[in-house]
Amino acid sequence: MSLAPGNGPVQITQDQLQARIHEIAAKIREDYHGMEPHLICVLNGAFMFHADLVRAIDMPCTIDFLQASSYGNAKQSSGEVRIVKDLQFPISDRHVILIEDIVDTGITMNYLLHYLEGRGPASLKIAALLSKPSRRKVEIPVEYLGFTIPDAFVYGYGLDRSQFDRNLPFITSQE
Ligand code: IMP
Repeated sequence: MSLAPGNGPVQITQDQLQARIHEIAAKIREDYHGMEPHLICVLNGAFMFHADLVRAIDMPCTIDFLQASSYGNAKQSSGEVRIVKDLQFPISDRHVILIEDIVDTGITMNYLLHYLEGRGPASLKIAALLSKPSRRKVEIPVEYLGFTIPDAFVYGYGLDRSQFDRNLPFITSQE
């Protein structure tokens, strides 16, 4: 699904977010039928997406939180990723879904995939609310994707603009 492919600002409304999240949830429910997926929220940006997605999947699952940092307050990735908060629970033999707000260069998700693969999960997939494919430096597989967006800095619904505006219920790129 792609939004605002032209030069206009990115605008994803509350209704559009919720509708897409319910579609992703239905797919996860189907793909993980009979399993108990472990949904890891990549803090801070994915906190709203994760909270809405786990409620929408409506199946037995467990959750955990992981915090990686590569951005600080800047709008450019430093290219360096570090773990700020590690997982609380083991993931060996678990069916893990990593829940991310946005895949931009792909550097963060690439790092986290390798980091978590070393811990022996039964499977490891990515669910990302947004993707900016034109910015990709590392190709990573995104199994569940909300929206493809053009190269614009977006905020709201968990994503920050210098730490503010995470509490907006919609996503926008408008100044
Ligand atoms: P990547 O490593 O370049 O893929 O960047 C991933 C992280 O950068 C995301 O988890 C966000 O925290 C941040 N990020 C990238 N693009 C944006 C944006 O447009 N708005 C807010 N944060 C962004």
